[in-house]
Amino acid sequence: MKAALLHGPHEDFRIEEWPKPEPEPGSAIVRVRAAGVCGSELDFVEGIFSLNPCPLILGHEIAGEIAESGPGLDYKEGDRVAVHNMMGCGLCRNCRQGWENLCENPRGQLGFTAHGGFAQYVKVPATNLVRLPEQIDYPTGAVLGCSGLTAVHATRLATIDLGETAVVNGVGGVGLSVLQMANLRGARTIAIADKPWKAHLAREMGADEALVVQDYQDVAAWVRDLTEGGADVYFDLVGTSVSMGAGIDCLRHRGRFIIIGYQKDSLIVSPVSLLKREIQIRSSVAGCRRDLEAAVDYAARGKLKVIIDSTLPLESINDCISRLQNREVRGRNVLLP
Ligand SMILES: [Zn+2]
Ligand SMILES: [Zn+2]
Repeated sequence: MKAALLHGPHEDFRIEEWPKPEPEPGSAIVRVRAAGVCGSELDFVEGIFSLNPCPLILGHEIAGEIAESGPGLDYKEGDRVAVHNMMGCGLCRNCRQGWENLCENPRGQLGFTAHGGFAQYVKVPATNLVRLPEQIDYPTGAVLGCSGLTAVHATRLATIDLGETAVVNGVGGVGLSVLQMANLRGARTIAIADKPWKAHLAREMGADEALVVQDYQDVAAWVRDLTEGGADVYFDLVGTSVSMGAGIDCLRHRGRFIIIGYQKDSLIVSPVSLLKREIQIRSSVAGCRRDLEAAVDYAARGKLKVIIDSTLPLESINDCISRLQNREVRGRNVLLP
C-alpha cells in the first residue's frame, strides 16, 4: 500500500510502498478515506515527540470503511467508521470505568506510537471503531476523532450549568468545537482570538462575543465587564503562563479553569488568589470512546460542525505541514489517501 512515512525529525515525509496490515482476531483493517493533519504532527516533525517505531506512519484523525474484518466481528466490508485512536487495554481500572484516555497499560495510540492514517489502510481494534452515519462525510468523521472528541471530553469535565458563561481562549479546530459544545450546554460564550478573521469565524460558529487579543493584559477586565464579575468557566487552549494567568483572573467565585492546550510554560498562581474564590483547576486530555460517539451523534444532528480548510491527496502532506507551521490553516487540512 501507499503510505507517508516520517523517518526522523526535521525531515520531509516520504511517500513509499509499505506492507498492508493483516487482520487479526479483534481487529479490522480500515480503508482510510480521510485523515486530518493536526497541529500535533508538528511535535514529531520538530523533534518534541520521538518516533517509535521509526519510520512511523502518522495520522491520528481517521475515518474510512471496513476493508477486512477479523473473525467474529460485527462489521462487514464497506461499513463506514470513525476511529478512536487511543488503544486502551480494556482491563485496567480506568478502562473498566470508561476512561480509556487514562489507560494505565495502553496498547498504543494510532498515529503516535502505532501506525496511523496517512496510508491507504490501517489496522484498528474493534473497540476503537465507531460507526459513522451516512450524513457525516469522511473528512468530518476524521476530524471528529481529535477535535470533536477532545471538545466533548473537556466540556463534560467543565460541568457547565444553564445560565453560566464560558470563555474559550484559542479558537483553532479544538477551540471552535469547545465553543459549540459549551453553547450546547447552555452557556453564554466568549471567544478569545489572536486574529480578527478567527474572531469572525468564532462568531459564525456561535460565540456570543469574540475578542481579538494580542497580549492578555486587559482580558480579565474585559471579561469581568461583560459578565458582571467574571466567567464561570475558562477553557485554555493556548497554554502560555500569561494566557493561563489571565484565565484565572477572568473567573468568578467557584469558577473552573480547564487546561486543554499546553506549551512548555508553567502555570504560576498564588494559592490565596484561588482560595478567595474557590477556583477549581481541571485538566482534560483527549477523550474516551463515548466522547467520540457523542461527537459523531452531535455532528449527525447538525449540532457540531467541523471546519475543513482543504481536502488533498496524500502527496500533499509536506505542504500541509508547512502551512501548519506558518499558522495559515483555517480549521483542518484533510488528506484523502
Ligand atoms: Zn489531532
Ligand atoms: Zn487500560
